[in-house]
Amino acid sequence: MQVALDDYVWAAGVATDLVNTAPEVWHGEDHLPDLASLAAFAELHSIPTPTHASDLRAVHRLRTTVRDLIDRPDREHLITGASGLTSPAGHLTLLPESARWAVSLRPAATVTDALSLICGVGILGAVQTLGVERFRGCGAPTCQGAFIDTTRPGRRRYCMPGLCGNRVNVANHRARRTPRQSAHEHRARQ
Ligand SMILES: [Zn+2]
Repeated sequence: MQVALDDYVWAAGVATDLVNTAPEVWHGEDHLPDLASLAAFAELHSIPTPTHASDLRAVHRLRTTVRDLIDRPDREHLITGASGLTSPAGHLTLLPESARWAVSLRPAATVTDALSLICGVGILGAVQTLGVERFRGCGAPTCQGAFIDTTRPGRRRYCMPGLCGNRVNVANHRARRTPRQSAHEHRARQ
């Protein structure tokens, strides 16, 4: 597998998705509880490396490491930590069709190695191109998620916009309704 070095938006997205599978984001329920869910996560992100029994705990550890990096977005800390994640890299190359810079995974790499390299490239690319203020916690008051904001304007607020953003919108909508409206609706329902 090869990871294009300029494809940090994709890579940072995989890192964000990985940290948001953690139990603390889902009220204690791990969204990568077994090897099957890990294989499905890899397939969803087009990561073709095989999944071994030892990968589950290793990916959980990697997830904690990546989360710690996002939670403490000090430039030096991010660069050192993310550089460490790229250790499964083999050689530097150019992609066959586009001739973009890419890094190859070492032969016999596992899904943990692939995810580690991808998270490393994603974090380094985001630091280089966008800056450390793009590493943030979710803006939804009840959510413990975190994300790397790779949007152009940099105003992303939620770890899972479709989920956390909608929850906040619904809560705001309820809060905006006047008591009179609510009373009216209450009567109408009876
Ligand atoms: Zn969230």
